[in-house]
Amino acid sequence: MPTDTASKAHAMEPDCSCDLMVVGAGMAGMAAALFASSRGLSVAQAGALGGIDFSTGMLDLLGMHPVEELHAVDNPWQGLEALRRDEPHHPYGLVPDADVRAAFEDFTAFLAEAGLPYDGYADRNARVLTSLGTVKPTYRAPCSMWPGVQAMERKLPCLIIDFIGLKGFSGRQIVEVRGPEWPGLRSVRIPFPGCAGELYPEHLAWSLTEMDVVDWLAESVAEHVQDAQAVGFPAVLGPYAAPASTASSTASVGAASSGLYDVIARLRERLGVEIFEIPTMPPSIAGLRLRAAFETFLPGRGVRIYPQKRVAEWERTDNGGFRFHIAGAGEGDIEAVVEARGAILAGGRFFGKGLTADRHAVHEPLFGLPVLQPKHRDEWHREDFFDARGHPLNRTGVEVDARLRPLSENGHPAFPNLFAAGSILANQDWMRAKCGAGLAIATAYAAVQSYQNSLS
Ligand SMILES: Cc1cc2nc3c(=O)[nH]c(=O)nc-3n(C[C@H](O)[C@H](O)[C@H](O)COP(=O)(O)OP(=O)(O)OC[C@H]3O[C@@H](n4cnc5c(N)ncnc54)[C@H](O)[C@@H]3O)c2cc1C
Repeated sequence: MPTDTASKAHAMEPDCSCDLMVVGAGMAGMAAALFASSRGLSVAQAGALGGIDFSTGMLDLLGMHPVEELHAVDNPWQGLEALRRDEPHHPYGLVPDADVRAAFEDFTAFLAEAGLPYDGYADRNARVLTSLGTVKPTYRAPCSMWPGVQAMERKLPCLIIDFIGLKGFSGRQIVEVRGPEWPGLRSVRIPFPGCAGELYPEHLAWSLTEMDVVDWLAESVAEHVQDAQAVGFPAVLGPYAAPASTASSTASVGAASSGLYDVIARLRERLGVEIFEIPTMPPSIAGLRLRAAFETFLPGRGVRIYPQKRVAEWERTDNGGFRFHIAGAGEGDIEAVVEARGAILAGGRFFGKGLTADRHAVHEPLFGLPVLQPKHRDEWHREDFFDARGHPLNRTGVEVDARLRPLSENGHPAFPNLFAAGSILANQDWMRAKCGAGLAIATAYAAVQSYQNSLS
């Protein structure tokens, strides 16, 4: 029996009719919407909070393999070859290297156009300094972090700035951890201009949209620079890329104020040394910049975005497409209906609520797809929380065919025109393999390609 809400939605005129509905606004959903619109498909997208909002901003391809040996990957392409050999069901096995490369190129080219350029090596992971003083291997890092990669590689005399009251960031700890192999590394803890008490990254980032504050900061840092050739700051040097040059974004980000790279350029000019950012603990400004870039620029490419909205239900249309009901703010409210010829499910796992769990099992709540999971709940976790093999629960997800179509109970695609991408896919533990963004971007590329092929 259809619910009242479903009958109401059934009677609603579609707000949008398009080729492709993307369910999810995390890294995979953003990538899918981008790739599909670049191929000339009309796209709608809905989704709320995702890993992208908490991400360091780095785009990992593969940082660890084999994970049980805690083996850091130097050349991610060789790592992928080994991963596909050792784990034949891993979703990376569904995307050839050439497509992974093309996906990264398109993704980072879009971000560069949106004012967030990336840098990295062709065939090896870069090593990026974290706020804990550890080193994170990544394939592509925001250019705002890149001088830090080079300073660490060359062991240049370097100063880390730490702000009194900013939690989760300790210059002293960074120096303690890295100091033995990087003798020229120093840190200084200073007040942030005009602020006292507990400091929040968002607050600092917004303060730095005023050039007066940037100049004030430069003055406070200048006396400490001494022999340093690079100065590292927590990644709070502006909430957005370059709002002043973002024609369509002024409404959302305020009038012409300085963007991240304006701040970096001004600090570099005032201090006479290279400036770089060090990612902070979540919630991360670098992640929020990514979301802002997509939400600002995807509509200009024809993507109809329903920001911070979830798909509540769906129904099939007579021509084999889908009608999606986009939830409104109130309980049971439907804000809009979207008709689409096909869909990509990029709902993530538990964090994005693409998967849910009760006391007995893990479910995929939107389409009711079967979820690959251990038979019994007591097999979800290993006894030792730190077991190097990771927990079976972290490899749950939907299984797909070679064209990224989720399988039904009978092992056949649940729908000919439904595809899946990102962390919702089974047989991978992106967190341990350090391949979050890479897996999302690569599988989104492959899912869009499969959908487009299905149209011809
Ligand atoms: C703290 C943290 C740090 C990270 N750091 C890095 C990093 O340094 N490098 C890196 O490469 N990766 C990193 N990642 C991983 C990365 O950001 C992504 O989380 C990961 O790639 C998975 O992306 P996803 O899009 O598949 O899922 P998610 O990011 O979980 O997004 C799922 C999306 O689906 C939406 N959704 C679910 N159900 C529905 C529905 N019914 N209707 C509409 N929308 C729905 C959610 O609202 C959300 O928008 C980090 C993640 C976290 C959490």
